[in-house]
Amino acid sequence: MDESKHLSDFCTGNYLSKSDAEVFSSIKDEYNRQRDNIELIASENYVSTAVLEAAGSMLTNKYAEGYPGRRYYGGCEYVDDVERIAIKRAKEIFKCDHVNVQAHAGSQANMAAYFALIEPGARVMAMDLKHGGHLTHGSKVNFSGRMYEIIPYGVRPEDCRIDYDALAKTARETKPALIVGGATAYPRIIDFVKFKEIADEVGARLMIDTAHIAGLIAGGVHPSPVPYADVVTGTTHKTLRGPRGGFILSTEEYQKAVDRQIFPGIQGGPLMHIIAAKAVAFGEVLRPEFKTYTAQVVKNCKILADELMANGFKLVSGGTDNHLILLDLSEIHVTGKKAEEALGVAGITVNKNSIPFDPEKPTITSGVRIGTAALTTRGMREDEMRAVGSLIWKVIHNIDDEGALKKVRTETLELARTFPIFAW
Ligand SMILES: *Cc1c(COP(=O)(O)O)cnc(C)c1O
Repeated sequence: MDESKHLSDFCTGNYLSKSDAEVFSSIKDEYNRQRDNIELIASENYVSTAVLEAAGSMLTNKYAEGYPGRRYYGGCEYVDDVERIAIKRAKEIFKCDHVNVQAHAGSQANMAAYFALIEPGARVMAMDLKHGGHLTHGSKVNFSGRMYEIIPYGVRPEDCRIDYDALAKTARETKPALIVGGATAYPRIIDFVKFKEIADEVGARLMIDTAHIAGLIAGGVHPSPVPYADVVTGTTHKTLRGPRGGFILSTEEYQKAVDRQIFPGIQGGPLMHIIAAKAVAFGEVLRPEFKTYTAQVVKNCKILADELMANGFKLVSGGTDNHLILLDLSEIHVTGKKAEEALGVAGITVNKNSIPFDPEKPTITSGVRIGTAALTTRGMREDEMRAVGSLIWKVIHNIDDEGALKKVRTETLELARTFPIFAW
C-alpha cells in the first residue's frame, strides 16, 4: 500500500491535519521516527493496520463499567460482544479458566493481581529490580514497594541465571504469602515448574508476570505458566503485538477476586476501543502466521546475539533464549547512557539497562537492552540481524566520532526504508 495513504488514514491526517495542525505535526514526526529508525527496544512492537483501526475507533466514546451482561450503563450490547470476543480468544490462546481483559496496562494488571491474592502488608518475594525485575515487583517508589514487605531474589553471579536454590532457601526462611515470577530484562527461559514447587513447599501463592514474554508463550516458543500459577498477568503491546494494555489470567478460584479488584477495585470504565483492539490482536495471534512470527523473533535474537559476541561484545548470561539481549559494556568502559545516546544518533533505538551487580546508578548503567520483536514484525530476518549487529559494533567502537555515527545513520536509514511499517 502507498505509504502516504497510510499516514493520512492512520495518523488521521485528513481531519487532524486541518483541525489541529500542532498535534498532527508531532504525530507525523513520530510516524517518521518509527518508520526511519531501527527499533530495538525490547518492549516495543508495531501493531497491524487492523489493530490500529480498532484502537482508533469510536468505541472510545462508550462507558461500560462492569462486565459483559452486568454493566452499570445502558447501550452496552455491542461493546459486550467485543469484550466477550476478546475473552474467548484469549482463553483459546492461553488455555486458562478465566480471563480479564480490562487492565489499562501491565502495571494495573499486576496491582489487581496483588490485591486479589494478598492483603496489604503481606510478604512478597519478587525478582530484584537490579537483576531484571519490574517496578511493580517491589520498587520503593512504586505501590508494590510501598504496600508490601518485599523480599527480593536474583540471579547467580557466575552465569546470571535465576538462582532457584537461593530462592527456595530464602522462601523457606521468610515464608512469603506470594511469590512473583517474571521479569523485564531477563534473557533466559523462566522455569515455572521450579517456581510452583517452591511456592507449594512454603505455602505461598504464585503469580507469574508475562508482560514481556506473553507473545512467546502464545506462539509456543516459551513454556506457559498457566498450568502452575494462581494468577498470570501480561501486557498486550510487547511480544503479543497488540494495543497498549494489560490482561489477567487466573484459575477458577481467583476469577471473582481478579474481576472485583480490576473493577471496582482499581479502575472505573474500561477502554472499550482498546479492548476491541485486544480482540483483533488475539485473533491475529490465533493465526498460524503468529507462530512463525514468534519463532523468527527468537531465531533473530539468537543470530543477533551470536553476531554481537563474534564482534567481541559480552552478553549477560552469555546469550539468549527469548526475544531480548542484555549487552554488558562494563569491561569496555562504556556506560549504558552513553551507548544509548550514540546508538540514537546512528538511528538505532535502544534503552540503557542495569546489568546484574551493576556498579553504575540506574540513570547511568553498564548495559543496553536489545529486543528483536519489532524488527521481526517489519520482516527482517537473519541477514538483517547480522547487519544490525555489526552496525551496533561500529557505533560502540566509534562512540566519540560524530562523523562515523552519521555514516552509520545513512546505513540504518537505508535498512529501515527497505522494511516499511504498516505493511501488514
Ligand atoms: C512492561 C512490564 C510491566 C508493565 O507494563 P506497563 O504496561 O508499562 O504498565 C509489568 N511487568 C513487567 C515484567 C514488564 O516488563
